[in-house]
Amino acid sequence: MSERYAVVGNPIKHSLSPQIHSAFAAQTGEDIVYSKQLVPLDGFADFARSFFAEGGRGLNVTVPFKLEAFELADTLTDRAASARAVNTLLLDEKGEILGDNTDGAGLVFDICNNLGWQIRGKKILLLGAGGAARGALLPLLAAQPTHLHIANRTAEKAVQLAAEFSQLGELSGGGLEALRGCYDLIINASSASLDKVLPPLPEGCVADQGKAYDMMYGADLTPFSHWAQAQGADVADGQGMLVEQAAESFFLWRGVRPKTTPVRAKLRQDLNKTSHK
Ligand code: NDP
Repeated sequence: MSERYAVVGNPIKHSLSPQIHSAFAAQTGEDIVYSKQLVPLDGFADFARSFFAEGGRGLNVTVPFKLEAFELADTLTDRAASARAVNTLLLDEKGEILGDNTDGAGLVFDICNNLGWQIRGKKILLLGAGGAARGALLPLLAAQPTHLHIANRTAEKAVQLAAEFSQLGELSGGGLEALRGCYDLIINASSASLDKVLPPLPEGCVADQGKAYDMMYGADLTPFSHWAQAQGADVADGQGMLVEQAAESFFLWRGVRPKTTPVRAKLRQDLNKTSHK
């Protein structure tokens, strides 16, 4: 019988995860069913426990339940512990619920393998100090940049986050207004693009041949990507990150790594079609 997986969130209507995981299953011949589940804001823990008690094998967790999933898990991977958020739950062979966070690994895989951009030896600017920024830090630092600066609208949060991860690499943090210097790669992990807003960034902070990555994705360029292009940077959005974090979850659940190139291409095609309707 097919094994059951689902993505849980509120709202969940627009989630692309069922499409992505169904494509992975078809490609790899894994016998799974993957659904989306809208769960009431106060109902996450009850839902997750019943799902696993009734034979469910794994869950993806999205906004606003990543912290609750972190608290629910019996054991955590290192990257979930450092992210303090869980986007993937798995019932292990001991019957315990394991929590992982594949978002940051998905981001780094997309940057280094799909886009062919370098992190090692580069100066990185990370915009934002929320969940997505925190989740990206461990994998980003493991990729060995020379320096990583976190800049956030609320400066103290960036300073705190930098202090917390300072054992793991050359890190600093501060406010957006205090930004100085120039960076090889700027990653927008703030939610400014959701509001179609450009964070206040100084001219000249993109290095020669610099790159810019917006975790937000969609058919149109975000204000951040527009700005970065005007500064001469190569730009990319977070759609590759979305597919790669899913591939990482699929691997954790099934032990098989799907090929992501055809899935990314199909999603991009669908997204462009939607924007032209
Ligand atoms: P959070 O709400 O946890 O954090 C939001 C961050 O953005 C905070 O640091 C906040 O600053 C900052 N911010 C909000 N508005 C502005 C603004 N107008 N100007 C500058 N900074 C601003 O959100 P997440 O970290 O969960 O998500 C961030 C982004 O990452 C979203 O766009 C989300 O869609 C994307 N994402 C993409 C994924 C993918 O797979 N591609 C996966 C996960 C997230 P302050 O501290 O001052 O409030």
